This record gives sequence, structure tokens and C-alpha cells, in this order.
Amino acid sequence: MGIPLAVMDHADPELFGELMSAVERVAASGAFTGGRAVEEFETEYARWCEVAHAVGVSSGTEALVLALRALEIGPGDEVVVPANSFIATAEAVSMVGATPRFADVDPDTSLITAATIEPVLTPAVRCVIPVHLYGRTVEMEPISELARDRGLRVIEDAAQAHGARYRGRRVGTIGDAGTFSFYPAKNLGAWGDGGAVVSGNAEIAEAVRLLRSHGESPRYHHRMVGTTARLDAIQATILRLKLRHLERWNALRRQAADALREALRDSIASPPIAPSPGCDHVYHQFVVRAPQRDALKDSLAREGIATGIHYPIPIHRSDAYMALAGERDVAPVATRLAGEILSLPIFPGLDDAQIRRIADATVAFTAQAEGAQAEGSAVLVRS
Ligand SMILES: *Cc1c(COP(=O)(O)O)cnc(C)c1O
Repeated sequence: MGIPLAVMDHADPELFGELMSAVERVAASGAFTGGRAVEEFETEYARWCEVAHAVGVSSGTEALVLALRALEIGPGDEVVVPANSFIATAEAVSMVGATPRFADVDPDTSLITAATIEPVLTPAVRCVIPVHLYGRTVEMEPISELARDRGLRVIEDAAQAHGARYRGRRVGTIGDAGTFSFYPAKNLGAWGDGGAVVSGNAEIAEAVRLLRSHGESPRYHHRMVGTTARLDAIQATILRLKLRHLERWNALRRQAADALREALRDSIASPPIAPSPGCDHVYHQFVVRAPQRDALKDSLAREGIATGIHYPIPIHRSDAYMALAGERDVAPVATRLAGEILSLPIFPGLDDAQIRRIADATVAFTAQAEGAQAEGSAVLVRS
């Protein structure tokens, strides 16, 4: 049996049955859009995030778009985003008519920092979007301080970090707003697309609530130009049930990650560094770095071990943003990392035998790579 990169709900028969019954109840009620299911999920998600407001929306990308719109960021404004994130972080900025500015990342954590943001600030920058990439928390305090000094808004893209804590607080609740994706493969995933915006600020939450459904309140009174970006009732019901397991699932991810980190000690693949004090990691991805990444990927695939690359092309080098970012590489660390990173399987319940197989295959590749290198240098010496 191969080892997948992530597991979906159909692989857990008990959970699957529970969710199917819930879907059936919603379908039988005929309340597919809005209503109690969505409100209950919003209340429970806000409580779980330890924040005053949560608004369900149709995707993590829409969550970013609507958070930016709620902060009245648009044409003429610039927004700092990390160069290595899922492209949605930058796309949302473009969608509201603003311009992304790409910040490089810290070589040890792969995350944006106050030090990488500072050099790309211009007078037009109005907002920063730190991304808690792979589930690891960004060091927020210096960024919050920088934002206070420069009068910038902060939106946390927590699409990969549901439930992670920074200095005791849930991510997404530290900036002006936080955004989440419930894409099926995320730590909290729906059976389709979904997202949420959380905020401690009632006005921001209310603006997102209006924007997601045509600025409508009350019925057929449109107070602003909005869109269709609601969370479906069926998705809300699934998310609500899965939310009850999320703390435990994240703990299982951390446990598996710690075991995998230990098992990889003598291999060519450098495991992710452990989170520093005050920071957290909920391991949406377990990303190692390896000098011969593509060969390692192929070698693991031959052993039935699935891997991923998150992401092979940094946003500022993508076809979509190359023209904007320019020829000169504005984020060389992100570019270098893109050539070295490899995401190994990680999911709640990744067991000891699977961890052993991943580690053994990686160590075997290491021995082979080192052997080839030694042979290469022997040839060099002879000639
Ligand atoms: C998944 C993801 C998004 C987008 O979420 P969708 O629900 O797919 O629109 C945004 N940012 C990051 C960092 C993500 O991983």
C-alpha cells in the first residue's frame, strides 16, 4: 500500500457516515443557503478561534478579497504579500484592484518577517498579509509593531494554520482580520470550497457579511456593491461536525511530525526546524529541504510514497506575476527554497510503520546519493 500525501474523509468510515447523515438532514430541510447551519458554524468557529466574529464565505480566496474590501483597500493601494505562498494571497490583492508587493522570506522558517517587509514598503502600501505557511506561525509581534508605526492594516492568511497559536492567541485573531480556507485538503476541510473571515472588529465583520451577499440587508435593500460569496449550508454542517475533532487532529499532526523529524535525522532531507518559543506549527505540510530534491521525489515515488512541492514556482516568478515583479529577482530566498523543498506525507493518524517507511526510503536515497558523489570525486581525482 502506498502512503498518500494527505487523507480525505472517505478514508474514515465512521466520520464519513456521520457526515453523510448530516448532509442528508440539511438536504431534507431544503435550506441550502444561509440559515441556521451557517449561523451555528459561525458561532462555534468564532468561539473556537477565541474571537468575537466569524463570517462564513465561499472560499479562502474570497475571504481574502472580502477582508481587503472591508478594509477599503483598492485601486492605487499596494499590499505586501510573501513571495512564497499559494498564489491566492496575491490574486486577492489583484482582484480588488490593488497591487501586490512581494516580500522575501526568512531562510530558516520560509515565512515573511518584519525585516523582509520593511525594504518593500512604499508610501502606497496600506496593508500587509502575513501567511502562516505550512501551518507554522509567523512571528507577528514585530509585524504588528511595524504596522502600528506605519499606519498599515494587517490581514493574516491562516488558510493553512487553523488553530495554531501565537503567544497563546489563535492565528487569524492578531491582525485586523484573519482569513481561512476550508478547501478539502486543509486542516479543516469541507466537501468542496469554503472559507471564513474572523475579526475582533464588529464593523469589519459586518462589512464582510454584507459584501458576501450583494450588500443586502434587509432583503432586496442593497447597501453596497457586493457579490455572491456565501458559505453553503451543507459545507457549514460538515465543518461544524469536523471542528469538534480539529484540536485532536492538529495534536496528531504535531505528534507525527515530531516522530518524522526524529526519524529523518541521518538523512539528506533537512526536516523543518521546530517552532521557536511562542510560535506553533500545526503541520498542514511537513516540508523538508534536500539538495537533490527532484531525484529524492522520484525515488520516494518508486517506493509508493507520495510527495508534493509547495510551491515549485514562487509567486513573483509565475507567468501571472512575472511582468509585475520584474526581471530582477526581488525575493531570492523564496526562489532558492522553491528548488529545494519537498512536502512529505503528513496527516492525523500517520502511523509509526508509515513514518519508518518514509524515513528508511529517505535514508536509503541519502546513502545512494552520497555513494554517487564519492564515486564522482574519485573519478575527478584519477583524471
Ligand atoms: C488554500 C489557500 C488559499 C486559498 O484558499 P481557497 O479556499 O482555495 O480559495 C489562500 N492562501 C493560502 C496560503 C492557501 O493555502
